[in-house]
Amino acid sequence: MSKQNNKITSPLGVQRTVLVKELRSKGISDTNVLRAIETVHREAFLPAAMVSRAYEDTALPIDNKQTISQPYTVASMTQALRLEPQMKVLEIGTGSGYQAAILAEMGMHVFTIERHPILSQKAREVLAREGYNVNCRIGDGTIGYSAQAPYDAIIVTAGAPDVPETLAKQLKIGGRLAVPVGDKSSQQLYVVTRTADEKWDVLDLGPYKFVPLIGIEGWEDGR
Ligand code: SAM
Repeated sequence: MSKQNNKITSPLGVQRTVLVKELRSKGISDTNVLRAIETVHREAFLPAAMVSRAYEDTALPIDNKQTISQPYTVASMTQALRLEPQMKVLEIGTGSGYQAAILAEMGMHVFTIERHPILSQKAREVLAREGYNVNCRIGDGTIGYSAQAPYDAIIVTAGAPDVPETLAKQLKIGGRLAVPVGDKSSQQLYVVTRTADEKWDVLDLGPYKFVPLIGIEGWEDGR
């Protein structure tokens, strides 16, 4: 244990292990997800002022008035996708790049889209520095990325007014889309499975709170 700014802190590796224990106690059981959380350096994706809080199970502010999601949220959304190594995964809302790193650490082929160029650029740099090969794109993720479709899984890390239809159609048959749907202050996490060419099943995993998804199939900017 070392002392910093009058606060007792433990080495980051120990903090990661404690976080994993906490996530397990909250119901996360996918060992690949837990292993990725124990491996990825969340502090690398945070602004300097937030680094000391990297392993609190909480969302934290990043640039452009956006957030890095709470580790429990990252873990439960990732677990809900039931991923296997080598799957092709599209993330909407790169933000800090942390969720993309978790997916890459789990052995996925990751494409991620962010609407704020500065966030995308920063995430691209951190992901490369941390050794993750992630394809970072700038643009409106509500219309997906058709050039690489279909996907085994799509994860939307911002709250949408409805399930973005274009994203649902970019899934493989059997593919899963995790997307928070609701109003701007709270959403339900839906897992949408494409069961046939024109058929999707929806599972509601309960309430979550995300920043708004802004775009053609999301909320209007500034509304
Ligand atoms: N996954 C991120 C991480 O690991 O740090 C957290 C994402 S943050 C909660 C939501 C992100 O979605 C923000 O960075 C926001 O700018 C982005 N976003 C909102 N609407 C978007 C859209 N239509 N396309 C792409 N990104 C969008």
